[in-house]
Amino acid sequence: RCFCKLKGEVDDCSCKVETLDSLNNNHIYPRLQSLLTKNYFRYFKVNLHKECPYWSDDSRCALKDCHVSQCAEDDIPVGLKSGDPKENKYSRENQEITTCAEERELSALDTTISDETKETFKDWRKHDDAQVTFCELDDDNSSGIAYVDLLLNPERYTGYRGASAHRIWHSIYEENCFQPDSKYSYGDNPLANLCLEERVFYRLISGLHTSINIHLSAKYLYPGKNGYGAGTWGPNKKEFQKRFDSKTTDGTGPQRLKNLYFTYLVELRALAKVAPYLEMEDFYTGSDEDDDVKSIVMDILQVIKSFPDHFDESKMFQDPTQASRLKAEFKNHFRNISKIMDCVGCDKCRLWGKLQTQGMGTALKILFSGDSIGPESTVGANQKSQFQLRRTEIVSLFNAFGRLSDSIYSIEQFRSMMS
Ligand code: FAD
Repeated sequence: RCFCKLKGEVDDCSCKVETLDSLNNNHIYPRLQSLLTKNYFRYFKVNLHKECPYWSDDSRCALKDCHVSQCAEDDIPVGLKSGDPKENKYSRENQEITTCAEERELSALDTTISDETKETFKDWRKHDDAQVTFCELDDDNSSGIAYVDLLLNPERYTGYRGASAHRIWHSIYEENCFQPDSKYSYGDNPLANLCLEERVFYRLISGLHTSINIHLSAKYLYPGKNGYGAGTWGPNKKEFQKRFDSKTTDGTGPQRLKNLYFTYLVELRALAKVAPYLEMEDFYTGSDEDDDVKSIVMDILQVIKSFPDHFDESKMFQDPTQASRLKAEFKNHFRNISKIMDCVGCDKCRLWGKLQTQGMGTALKILFSGDSIGPESTVGANQKSQFQLRRTEIVSLFNAFGRLSDSIYSIEQFRSMMS
């Protein structure tokens, strides 16, 4: 029952932990390590100064390791600095989407409107379906938005904990209203009582939580001598065991680790589905250093596409009596969780929390948008497809997946430290 014996089915998919360990640690992880150092992926545009929409801000964490340094103007590659014309175009389209969503209800009035108008509504709905957004992206022109160099601000132990961190996790799990049995409170594992869609939602959030907590255990700060001095960074076996060992977690640790593998599988599938779209991107930054980005992306996508046991999203939302309610709830709860990230009291945690929820939201947008769903379906191959991704969505998707990949790699490291 020890975590080192974690193996077998990931559940809710036809894939085993061992298969994913091998795929990730031997093939995906090394390639992502090289890709995520490239300029296109390392500069993330983010607003860390947005107000928390749910409660008045906690006093911001003053810990040194919570600090995020923003990029100086000169550091930003020229192709990013000049602004991506596509970004503006997409912002306009996103505004349209809100209108389309409001117009959905009008389909009930079909008999009273002309055929031409009906066609327009149909087109709008098609457009809307192709652009389901699960995340509120930071406004590109808002005050407080800035580029952050992710390599200079790595996700690792910051010391953020206590009431503020617990309030965030508590709100996130509470926002996951898919808990039919009131005896469950946050932190419990309600999988047994949930239907597939509810379980998927819970497992995605729990998998993200697992990943964050693995990172702080794997890149832990040991204080300097007598509490002074610079301190040293390294893996903390005890911290990891405390959080994930079966004995110290009443058996929930291994299940939480499996949720990480599940989350990885969902994002892996999103990348497979969006591969034809990404293959048409040029990943332009104006920097010579990025000349090989496209070939690394193509290489990773090739590995991902040839993986046989992808998560099958077409099994979701199949019950005609529940599908539209569940879909709307799924989307709204996730959007709220993405907004909760603006309440995180530690800037570094907020940065990576925002990036990872945005990446997960992008994965969900890919899975539930576009022409079709299911293991064989793709988006972007059809030139007429209205599906579009902004640069920030592509950057967050790859970096979020990179975080999960890094966590799975770290599990292997911890396993060998303990054997
Ligand atoms: P917490 O991790 O705070 O968990 C609270 C409760 O949730 C636990 O008691 C448990 O019952 C339950 N729980 C724990 N894990 C899971 C899971 N996987 N699935 C389901 N339930 C679970 N700290 C850093 O040092 N570096 C960071 O980069 C960082 N990023 C963060 C980002 C966000 C968005 C948040 C909210 C927090 C972040 N933290 C970070 C803080 C960190 O996640 C913990 O909150 C902190 O270390 C305190 O841990 P804890 O043991 O009290 O339990």
